[in-house]
Amino acid sequence: MPSSFKIATISGIPIRIHITLAILFPLFLLSYAGLGIMGVLLGGLLGIGLFASITLHELAHAVVARHRGCHIHEILLLPIGGIAKISNMSSNHRDELWIALAGPLTSLALAGGLLAVVIFSAGAIPFVAILALALAKMNGMLAGFNLLPVFPMDGGRVFRAWLSPRLGRLRATYWAAKIGKLFSILFGIWAVFPILKGETPDFFLLIIAVFIYQSATAESRQVAFEEWRRENPY
Ligand code: ZN
Repeated sequence: MPSSFKIATISGIPIRIHITLAILFPLFLLSYAGLGIMGVLLGGLLGIGLFASITLHELAHAVVARHRGCHIHEILLLPIGGIAKISNMSSNHRDELWIALAGPLTSLALAGGLLAVVIFSAGAIPFVAILALALAKMNGMLAGFNLLPVFPMDGGRVFRAWLSPRLGRLRATYWAAKIGKLFSILFGIWAVFPILKGETPDFFLLIIAVFIYQSATAESRQVAFEEWRRENPY
């Protein structure tokens, strides 16, 4: 059984949805069932709006990366967010900076556009205003969270792009990954902290913390290997 399936192709880039998200989404809608049909409708539109926002964020990374000579395989949507799968990634720090900034800047622009919708629809169509406000907040949070200096998230990539011309790519990645791992440990502690008060841990944040730790480790090893290959071509 494939682990993901294609839902669309935008600008030649396949958008795929992971099977876990396809299973969790109807369960998420069920949690709104107590609020009646309008609740389910609002929940459904919020969920679709959130993943459309994540797709646009990842598409922005992908389109800028392609413009700078990288190869885009697909955009994969997972319950924890989206990933633009890019190969032949540029190691030029200016390219990395713009590829990393494209996603959060798009999310901020979307948040601004949605706030304009809130202003224009507030009096006339309250349902649209409520939806647009919730999506504006989600896009603002998406931009803010991704801009934290936590490698390999966008802010961490911006940080590495800033460090690279100063320390060299290898040492810049080493320090960006170290800070990324430190943040992921803090996220992990924050996620399990409610257990001390007899409450449920934040599983979502915990998964993100593990994901960041593993990705930071994998990517710093990858860069170390690339640099070694560059210095030892034979
Ligand atoms: Zn991003």
